[in-house]
Amino acid sequence: MQARSGAPDARALQHFFDHAARILGEANVSRDHQHGALKGPQGEESYGDPFSTTATHQPGGAVRPHTVEEVQDIVKLANAYRVALWTVSRGKNLGYGGSSPVVEGTVVLDLQRMNKIIEVNEEYGYAVVEPGVSFFDLYEEIQRQGLNLWPSVPAIGWGSVLGNTVDRGLGYTPNGEHSQSQCGMEVVLPNGDILRTGSGAMKDNKTFPLYKGFNSGFGPSLDGLFFQSNLGIVTKLGIHITPAPEAYATVEVSVPREEDLVPLIGTLSDLMRRSIILNSPSIANIFRIALTSKVPEVHAKLAQYMKPGSNVPADVLEEIRVQQGWGYWRAYFSLYGSVEMLPALQKTIQRAFSAIPGSQVEWREFPGTPGSFITAAEIKEEEIPHSGIPTLAPLGIVDSRQQKGGGHICFSPVLPPSGRELYDWYLTAKQRTIDAKFDFFADFHVYPRYVIAIELVIYTLDEEEAIKDLYSNLLHDASDQGYMEYRTHVSYMDDVASKLDFNESAFRRFTSLLKDTVDPNGVLSPGKSGIWNSAVLPLRSSP
Ligand code: ADP
Repeated sequence: MQARSGAPDARALQHFFDHAARILGEANVSRDHQHGALKGPQGEESYGDPFSTTATHQPGGAVRPHTVEEVQDIVKLANAYRVALWTVSRGKNLGYGGSSPVVEGTVVLDLQRMNKIIEVNEEYGYAVVEPGVSFFDLYEEIQRQGLNLWPSVPAIGWGSVLGNTVDRGLGYTPNGEHSQSQCGMEVVLPNGDILRTGSGAMKDNKTFPLYKGFNSGFGPSLDGLFFQSNLGIVTKLGIHITPAPEAYATVEVSVPREEDLVPLIGTLSDLMRRSIILNSPSIANIFRIALTSKVPEVHAKLAQYMKPGSNVPADVLEEIRVQQGWGYWRAYFSLYGSVEMLPALQKTIQRAFSAIPGSQVEWREFPGTPGSFITAAEIKEEEIPHSGIPTLAPLGIVDSRQQKGGGHICFSPVLPPSGRELYDWYLTAKQRTIDAKFDFFADFHVYPRYVIAIELVIYTLDEEEAIKDLYSNLLHDASDQGYMEYRTHVSYMDDVASKLDFNESAFRRFTSLLKDTVDPNGVLSPGKSGIWNSAVLPLRSSP
């Protein structure tokens, strides 16, 4: 069988590995999936999805190049032997499949060894990184150099800056929408050629990591072709970084009733459209507030219900909420400004939320000193990394269903920002989740013109079948309501892509045309985001 239609022929694979070992050294070739990956949540070093026990998406081994030239050589080999590669940068991608490919048997192209921070520029606020650079690496380098920069990090900091960005991941500083902060890319194409986007298209151009234009460069923007895609391997990436502010305050806004979600979201997105709030507020529901609290009796109460086949009843959550004096929803965001600006921003926030009866606003304030900038050492740590201090703390939640080594999956639709549409969707999704005997954990991210409503569901590994049913119900419900996901797990990429049905799936037909043109042998990440060569697409397009 050829790479384009599934797992490669066993002999071709062996020849590919032999040849790859001559280029990379045997130590950088894994002939099965069981070793060589960066350590996972339980310390394991195998490739695949740490949150799954099924073999459906098991990789057929891995190769770990160190240089761009080695990546080019490996891609040429893949074409010669018709072996498909699944590109990962650090392969974390928790909740979306880890380093699992769509097609079982695909070889992971693991870029963890390409871990150079090529440049960090304090004056203009950007960095240029290779794929293996983690959020911890970038943060630590900034601390080492003592730079006044707050790099954005997602909830868990061990992933790749580049990998997370090209998969449209989210962080928490004003540059936290990583795909929007990307500026300049270097890409190895499926034929081994190499391309730079934006200003980088010109050799030695001085604005490669600076000028985004209307997405980047002169003429059409090519950068977008390499987000959530399989048209190239990104080997360098420019990323804009928020300067450390002079004055800073973290803010938590709590509202008491479930239906207060509507004005909460509406107020937050309005404040974002007016550039009062600069980073994306994230919103937790009472279940998440309780689960992530540090109150032992609350944990003891939850533990009575959080086990396979069972969830925490609404009246128990309400009892906890009232006893602790918590809101039903809590929004987390921060204010970034100058010494003079901060008090005015705080007053504006107070006034805006006073319109929601029973709302409470809490601050952690860093009023600052004129002319100096707030440092990570002053902040120490944060529940949500609004100042860019990376953490691994949230990893623990997967063990909370009375079993070590559970998992979580994220369902992530994009909705309009008024709060009204979100509330309707939320009520349907919550009921689905309760019916399936799981708990609804909200991680909603507000932007000026949309909300990315991440529902995170925690499960134990023997609940995988139930979680699959729930996920596909959530997917169908949301698409019936007119919404699609911003990102999905490898198991659902075809399902999400099959909902892109305008004009007889013109979008899918076009990406397939591009795929045939740039990757005729289908060697790069087959099936990523539902993109296939045209010979395979009809087989994968069932509604
Ligand atoms: P992280 O470790 O930050 O979670 P991953 O390395 O797992 O990120 O990457 C997430 C996804 O992004 C991968 O599954 C892959 O589809 C895509 N990706 C990662 N790195 C690259 C890259 N260098 N070029 C193209 N796509 C990539």
